[in-house]
Amino acid sequence: MKDTLGREIRYLRVSLTDLCNLRCVYCMPPEGVSKQTHRDILSLEETEEIVQEAVALGVRKVRLTGGEPLVRRGMVSLCRRLRAIPELEELAVTTNGLLLPQMASELKEAGVDRVNISIDTLNPVKYNSITRIGSLDDALRGIEAAWTAGLRPLKLNCVLIGGFNDDEIPAFAALTEQADIEVRFIELMPIGHTTPFGETAYLPCEAVLQRLPQLVPAGDNGGVAERYRLPGAIGTLGLIRPLSNCFCARCNRLRLTADGCLKPCLHSKEEIPLRGLHGEALREQLLTAIRHKPEQHGLLRFDSRSESARNMNAIGG
Ligand code: SAM
Ligand code: SF4
Repeated sequence: MKDTLGREIRYLRVSLTDLCNLRCVYCMPPEGVSKQTHRDILSLEETEEIVQEAVALGVRKVRLTGGEPLVRRGMVSLCRRLRAIPELEELAVTTNGLLLPQMASELKEAGVDRVNISIDTLNPVKYNSITRIGSLDDALRGIEAAWTAGLRPLKLNCVLIGGFNDDEIPAFAALTEQADIEVRFIELMPIGHTTPFGETAYLPCEAVLQRLPQLVPAGDNGGVAERYRLPGAIGTLGLIRPLSNCFCARCNRLRLTADGCLKPCLHSKEEIPLRGLHGEALREQLLTAIRHKPEQHGLLRFDSRSESARNMNAIGG
C-alpha cells in the first residue's frame, strides 16, 4: 500500500509495553512508568488482529519493541502466532537483551528471525549510569545468547552521545572485524521529557566517519542505515541519521503503541486510535494512518524538539 507520496508502507513497529527493566536516561523517567492494567493496553489477540489487517494492506515486516518487549507476558506465543501469518516476510525484535539468556532459543523456535540489541557503551560503569540500573555483563550475555540461538544477522544499536561514548567509536567498530554483526550508531533524538543532555550531547553520525576515515561504503540494503565496513571486516557499521540526514523520503513504517494508537510519524503528535475496531473499520483506520504520513518530521535541528507527546519508551523507537 502506497502513501500519498508514493512511499510503499511495508514495515510496522509494534510496541508491546511501556514498561522496561532498564531506565535509560534519554528514554525514560528515573522512576520508570506506572504499571498499565490489562485494560489499558492491547491484548495479544487485539495486537495479532491489527497485524493481520496491516499485512493484508501490504506490511511485510513487523518489529516488536517497547518499553522492553521481552518483559511482556505471552510475547513468545504472540511471536508464534504472528509467524503463522503467511505473507509476513520478517519478524524482528528490538531489545536491551537482558532477558535473552532465558528467551533467545524460545524466540528463535517461535519464528523470530532476528533481534537488534541496544548497547550504548562497553564500559560497565558507564553502562550502569546510562541505563541507571543495568549491568553490562547481563547485556553481553544477552548478545551471546542471541548469537548462539542463531538470531542473525545480529545488529547492535548504539545511541551516539557526545562526551559519553564518542571515545568508544573505534571499540564498537572493532566488534565487526571478526563477526558478522552490524553495529548501528544512532543520533540522539530530542524527544519526550527525559533527554537530560545539552547541545554538546548531540553528535552527528559524521563523527563516526571522521573518527574512522578508513571506512568504505558497504552498499544499501533498503533500510534507513547508511552502511560502511572497516577494510577486511566481516561485519558492517550502520549510521542512522534522523537529524543530520533526514530519511523521511524513504520512510516506509507505521508505529503501533501498546495502548492501541497508530503513529503515522515518530515525531508528530498525530495518533490514530484503533482499539475496539475490527474488520472493515480497522482497515479504514489503518488506511487513514497511511494517508496521514507527513512528508517529513520537523526534527531537523537538535535544538528543535520532537512534537511527539510521548517518551520513547511509550513509542518503541
Ligand atoms: N527496550 C528496547 C531497547 O532498548 O532496545 C526497545 C525499545 S527502545 C525505546 C528502542 C530504541 O530506541 C533503542 O535502541 C534506544 O536506544 C532508542 N532510543 C530511545 N530513546 C532514544 C532517543 N532519545 N534518541 C535516539 N534513540 C533512542
Ligand atoms: Fe528501556 Fe529500551 Fe528505553 Fe532503555 S531504551 S529505557 S532499554 S525502552
